[in-house]
Amino acid sequence: MKKKDREERLAAITRRSNLPYGVECGDGWIPIVVALDVQIALIDPNYVVHQVKEKFGGLRYYIATSESLSDEDRTRIRDLVSYAEAICWTICEDCGREGTLRKHGWWKTMCDECYVELTAPDKEYLTKLVASSDPDRDAKAKERRDISQG
Ligand SMILES: [Zn+2]
Repeated sequence: MKKKDREERLAAITRRSNLPYGVECGDGWIPIVVALDVQIALIDPNYVVHQVKEKFGGLRYYIATSESLSDEDRTRIRDLVSYAEAICWTICEDCGREGTLRKHGWWKTMCDECYVELTAPDKEYLTKLVASSDPDRDAKAKERRDISQG
């Protein structure tokens, strides 16, 4: 997502907040964050966003609701936030496809493709490690080339 597109989609949230770092999560979650804002604003148009971020692989959406709000509406909003945060555990934070929580030193919810991409340097290292532990590898590779060339 281009920076300008992202800013436009988050304009409503930005207006109701004073976020020092903006919305701190990947593009994959932006549609969920935007939908959540719309739903909360229907109940409490003057609610304030304190922080939106990724933490331990999940979404955190911190807000303050209006004083005048009924307990029932407060509960509805809390349920909406919980639901959006729960959905994010199943959505790739980077691209928005189906994802799961990955633990790799860091924790992040990602799809297979984004996970492989992100961990590619490690994969390269592993490939080299395997290669260096097999002294016959070059010979085998040559053999395979010979076979494939008929
Ligand atoms: Zn992805």
